[in-house]
Amino acid sequence: MKNIWVLIAFCLLPVAVFSAASNSYRFTLDLIRVQNDKIQVTLQTPTITPSETIYNIPKIVPGTYSVDNFGRYLSDFKAYDKNNNLLETEKLDDNRWRIHKANTLVKITYWVDDTFQDSAAAHQIFEPAGTNIEANQIFLINTHGFMGYFDNLKLLPYEFTVLKPQNFYGSTALKVAKATPGADTYLVLNYMELVDSPLMYTIPDTTVLQIGGAEVLVSVYSPYKKINARYIGATIRSTLEAQKNYLGGKLPVPRYAFLIYLWEKPNKSGSYGALEHSYSSVYYLPEAEPERIAQLIVSIAAHEFFHIVTPLNIHAEQIHDFDYNNPQMSQHLWLYEGVTEYAATHVQVNQKMLTPEAYLNKLRAYIIGAGAYNDTVPFTVMSKGALNKYASQYGNVYQKGALIGLALDIKLHELSGGSYSIRRLMQDLAVTYGKNKAFKDEELFDKIAALTYPEIRDFFRAYVEGSQTLPYSTIFKTVGIIYQPVSTEEKVSLGQLQLVYDPPTQKLVIDNLSKTTAFGKKNNLRTGDQLLMLNDKTLTRESAPAIFKSEVFARNAGDKIIIRVGRTTKHGKIRIKKLKGRLIKVTEQKQYVLTIDPAATPQQKILRDTWLYTN
Ligand SMILES: [Zn+2]
Repeated sequence: MKNIWVLIAFCLLPVAVFSAASNSYRFTLDLIRVQNDKIQVTLQTPTITPSETIYNIPKIVPGTYSVDNFGRYLSDFKAYDKNNNLLETEKLDDNRWRIHKANTLVKITYWVDDTFQDSAAAHQIFEPAGTNIEANQIFLINTHGFMGYFDNLKLLPYEFTVLKPQNFYGSTALKVAKATPGADTYLVLNYMELVDSPLMYTIPDTTVLQIGGAEVLVSVYSPYKKINARYIGATIRSTLEAQKNYLGGKLPVPRYAFLIYLWEKPNKSGSYGALEHSYSSVYYLPEAEPERIAQLIVSIAAHEFFHIVTPLNIHAEQIHDFDYNNPQMSQHLWLYEGVTEYAATHVQVNQKMLTPEAYLNKLRAYIIGAGAYNDTVPFTVMSKGALNKYASQYGNVYQKGALIGLALDIKLHELSGGSYSIRRLMQDLAVTYGKNKAFKDEELFDKIAALTYPEIRDFFRAYVEGSQTLPYSTIFKTVGIIYQPVSTEEKVSLGQLQLVYDPPTQKLVIDNLSKTTAFGKKNNLRTGDQLLMLNDKTLTRESAPAIFKSEVFARNAGDKIIIRVGRTTKHGKIRIKKLKGRLIKVTEQKQYVLTIDPAATPQQKILRDTWLYTN
């Protein structure tokens, strides 16, 4: 679920398709007549020759790496011949319907419920891949939730018409082929392109940015109007400009759409995030304060947008001809998700949005994150098993996956004396393969070695196909960075305590407390105390880092400090207590510390600079 680079011959809707598509799927989605969060879907079918066929709704869609069974949300499935007689149908499983006398089939109808409201389901679909139907409010149309395909006929053209309230606008990267106030008609080349084209219908809140030759649509649904498209557009612009520079000065797509759905209720899938497509991405985020939402969107969008490079333009056969009901996984999640995540962070230091020190902190966070997963499962094996056996290890694609990208980038810089990078490799792979030409899973490592250096084949053998731990010390040493698995530092402190943010009260709360604190036994801090003020400065989630810096870390051990806490009484009331103490010195152990080596050789400095800053 995320992002990248591309060279595309892009021609989404040639006019010829519209007139030539006599044997095509023709769908109608009726957003006007909504019943209990369900809409009716009608399909005028293409010509079917066999006497039996199977109609499929996806079990899984690209980018989610999870089994979702979208067919669960269909009901009242009916098939008709040209005289409007019902044909016999059988439901084979959640996602497939067998239709008898299929050679006489002309029409199918069914109703579709949405996935967002399904609180009973054992498996909740990740919302950016899901569907929402709220009459007269919002329709999130991930097309695979509404429209399917017949066996062997995935490559026929699709025409679909959305019947809509007149004041609604459909945000999508697709161009409308025909529009009237009450209906939009779209044309796509085949089922893959249909699934690649989500739409969001609502009363419009949109803005369009012109960046690097591309038209970028930002569309927002914010139920309580906490944030609008103009604000998000203004925030996202600098990230996209940076990504444009990183990709060589031009965005590799003519058009891109950010479809942003903000949700005011606690969500059911337990996660927020986004899903990438070739020309758009769909976001599902909490409707929080504008600054917070904007920051969330910027950090996720950098990843999603970079998916325009991979897998969208560099991918294996099983992704190119995706089997929506019996998908085979590729072994290259290190590339699709790992390299994408690496680029989404590297662009920020490369384009000077982050200092090198702040960037090293982000790399440290990946190392810490990877520590939560099993490092001995080879990445290719985990990738192949990401839907089942290794589903619990999937999250490592965003941690160790990014570090594999880092290691490969530094290795390429080292072997080329600073003249070749992972970005160049991606460009070369996009030329070798591309949107319409897939690689064979097993040939990719050899191909990359042929394009670069034989040593790179050894790198893949050891650290991606093999189970060896990435050699952090060696990797970082190449670019004059010191890596310390464990480092000890002394720090002025209130004592060791952990704070958590409590959303209902919007207060910081002490979650964990060591025995050593700056406060005596009598007035000791307690677990569960709300931390309200330090030396008369009010703490909020936003202000806390700066206040801790000025009132604690920048002071000396022994200095006086006054803090106010909110403490719950026996009767459940919060009473404010004023506590006095003196700052103390504590020794902290820090893992995986990365620092710039002041004694780096000229060679190391050159490689560090080219790794961080060249294009
Ligand atoms: Zn991703």
